[in-house]
Amino acid sequence: MATDNHLMPTYGRLPVHFTHGKGAWLWDKDGKRYLDAMAGIAVNGLGHAHEGVVEAVCAQARRVMHVSNWYQIDAQAQLAERLCAIAQMDRGFFGNSGAEANEAAIKLARLYGHKRNIDNPAIVVMEGSFHGRTLATLSATGNRKVQAGFEPLVTGFRRVPYNDLAAVRQVREHDQQVVAVLVEPILGEGGIQIPDPGYLNGIRRLCDEAGWLMMLDEIQTGMGRTGRWFAWQHEGARPDVMTVAKALGNGMPIGACLAQGAAAELFQPGNHGSTFGGNPLAATTALAVIDAIEQGGLIERAAILGDRIRDGLATALRHTEGVREVRGTGLMVGVELDRPAQGIMMRALGRGLLINTTAERVVRLLPPLILSDEEAAQVVDLTATTIIEHLQS
Ligand SMILES: *Cc1c(COP(=O)(O)O)cnc(C)c1O
Repeated sequence: MATDNHLMPTYGRLPVHFTHGKGAWLWDKDGKRYLDAMAGIAVNGLGHAHEGVVEAVCAQARRVMHVSNWYQIDAQAQLAERLCAIAQMDRGFFGNSGAEANEAAIKLARLYGHKRNIDNPAIVVMEGSFHGRTLATLSATGNRKVQAGFEPLVTGFRRVPYNDLAAVRQVREHDQQVVAVLVEPILGEGGIQIPDPGYLNGIRRLCDEAGWLMMLDEIQTGMGRTGRWFAWQHEGARPDVMTVAKALGNGMPIGACLAQGAAAELFQPGNHGSTFGGNPLAATTALAVIDAIEQGGLIERAAILGDRIRDGLATALRHTEGVREVRGTGLMVGVELDRPAQGIMMRALGRGLLINTTAERVVRLLPPLILSDEEAAQVVDLTATTIIEHLQS
């Protein structure tokens, strides 16, 4: 096995090396099997080695992987059409990651502002948010740890508390430079924080009144995970701009910035671009992912499984001191503890379970949408046992 000596040490990696996977399971090099309830941080929505996806990747790789965006790419045009249909958007731009999708959204907001003769267009962003690691997206992110050491930050962001409509209204009254709001429908990295009902509709209304763009970061919440294609569809607060990545390619790197109305007409030839963005391999894979989610009825499954897992955990942990709350929407599940959750990933690993912790005290589950009933029950049992063990240690 190679050492990590020649890798920049940006990750604190766990001591396990996976060699292959199938469905919700991964195997390490010693043949030990793990139930994957984190899905590569909400990426492998269809699990590992999904037949339809594998077939699409292999067949497309044999035909053509990449041509330039100087040429017509049918799969990219088809993918844009399919995504716009499920997301109720008009046009899309493709990049290779979540951060790039958000960069495109931020650039759209600035173009939108300049068009309205606003010289220093600003975007309202939230405390506790996460939007990526590029300079603009880390500047938009509401977590000092992500920003520290990378100053000077990109300017043009106004930060308010999450789930606080009054704070957004205040900005509107005092700041003439603001042109957009960028917000996650549920804080993912911020600890599975679910806003009050009406929050997104409230932001929609404020944006309409102010002439701002409502921009949703659906990178973690999107592609069926919450029990709808996109989390905003629970409330019907359709944004002007939305970003998607993570589960869009089931592991193939691809991200998209989608827009409707005026926001969909802002980019013009030469404004923006990406060499790899939406290439035939990535676009074909994403089309296969959408097909599989649709044909498998996986959005309805995500809702059912999510309820079951949350109920199961709430029951199993109801007498456990140290558990503050079990919450979530669909297959985005968080268990908040009254103390740091550090060490839980390692403890779960020992039990053959992959979960993750975020926002210090929150155990996060992001299992694949293809989970069977039995696997969902196993996720509940293993997670509850691991948490109880952690709290008693
Ligand atoms: C993961 C994530 C991103 C960043 O995506 P990358 O592909 O890592 O650049 C942005 N926003 C949210 C909400 C995310 O969960």
